[in-house]
Amino acid sequence: MDQFDTRAIQHLDSAHYLHPFTDFKDLRGRGARVIVRGEGIYIWDSEGNKILDAMSGLWCVNAGYGRTRIADAVYRQMQTLPFYNSFFNTTNVPAVQLATRLSQLAPPGFERVFFTGSGSEANDTNLRIVRRYWDLMGYTGRHVVISRHNAYHGSTVAAASLGGMAGMHAQGGLPIPGIEHIVQPNWYESGQGLSEEEFGLQAAQALETKIREIGADKVAAFIAEPIQGAGGVIIPPSTYWPEIQRICRKYDILLIADEVISGFGRLGAWFGSTALGIEPDLITFAKGVTSGYVPMGGVLVGQRVGEVLVEQGGEFAHGFTYSGHPVACAAALENLAIMEEEKLPAQVANDTGPYLKERFAQLQDHPLVGYANSFGFVAGLNLVQAKGRTPHDNRSFAPARQVGMTCRAHMFNNGVVMRAVGDRMIVAPPLIMTKADIDEMLARIRQSLDDTL
Ligand code: PLP
Repeated sequence: MDQFDTRAIQHLDSAHYLHPFTDFKDLRGRGARVIVRGEGIYIWDSEGNKILDAMSGLWCVNAGYGRTRIADAVYRQMQTLPFYNSFFNTTNVPAVQLATRLSQLAPPGFERVFFTGSGSEANDTNLRIVRRYWDLMGYTGRHVVISRHNAYHGSTVAAASLGGMAGMHAQGGLPIPGIEHIVQPNWYESGQGLSEEEFGLQAAQALETKIREIGADKVAAFIAEPIQGAGGVIIPPSTYWPEIQRICRKYDILLIADEVISGFGRLGAWFGSTALGIEPDLITFAKGVTSGYVPMGGVLVGQRVGEVLVEQGGEFAHGFTYSGHPVACAAALENLAIMEEEKLPAQVANDTGPYLKERFAQLQDHPLVGYANSFGFVAGLNLVQAKGRTPHDNRSFAPARQVGMTCRAHMFNNGVVMRAVGDRMIVAPPLIMTKADIDEMLARIRQSLDDTL
């Protein structure tokens, strides 16, 4: 028997709860799906439907649902010390342990970490850090940060400005001054007439053009996700990152890798920067650090910036009540221990990631799929009305959003969560998925594509 009164919950939900990124009126009629439980790679709704969560919640439940070890660690910490801040020369043991552990897991040279409560706060922190760095170096005019169109860096005013989502910028007069955007490396959308490698170089060189336009003496940093996530899993051509790195070095621009999605095993290494050969100065993290069990984010600070902040900085006038929250840190420590014991990053790199790549690419034979690609445990496909000789000859659906939403609804009905970004359907499964789980996910996706036809 239904344990939950779904209609009553939906009624209260639409009356009182303003959901993020939602047209509130939409929930009045059909109501939100009420998710009540999770175990492994599955979630259950209030009507008893079992659904394969191919999005890991919101790209975060890397270690899967139902980890009682994390729950126990949180419970123990709550009983011992539920909260104490690390302002005013105090600290707490889980925060120290987690900062130490993260510095061991991070790429070489990342010895220091600033904790926040979310990825958005972490990117706000980045903006403060890079401007502070250049001020301390004596270059007080170096405050501009360059980002990319369609990037997602969070939802606070600064993070949404750093992001490049047109829909967000249109509300409330964003971006704030001092933030500029360049093209994203989306070969499928913009690379007509060019090989992926040629296009990758061209997209990266837009950074050099922008730096020259602004003046290198005014640019503090470039921020980017190693692989754009919320923008539609945009996997850059192999030539892109080396060229970005070259340009940052040439103009002495700090590089911020936003690893809120790509960190903690998703791309087959503890950090996506390692998987893609990027050498950033700062790394944003959140989501997978606790597998989403408790909110947490932060910035890993590399040696170049860390030395200056610590040795020359004096007080850094920035921080959050929940920076280094002991319960969140305890959850993260247990989560990282699980991921390490189960060797999840290596499993994605060597075993399940390559299998997902092979199986996902097979979707390309479906009449609705114009382009399918993946890296580690992120993947995406473009729904097309008609396929052409090359991906650039495909005929797209218009409006794109409508077909994506229809396909997404079929996915739900077939018991799999896939996210729609316009006409691009994306997945970011829990890293615990086995090959059999991948087969099951692909079968459900294929059935949903058939249903969308
Ligand atoms: N950066 C990236 C790359 C993200 O994907 C997200 C969230 O999806 C954020 C930052 C913001 O993180 P949060 O939602 O924890 O503020």
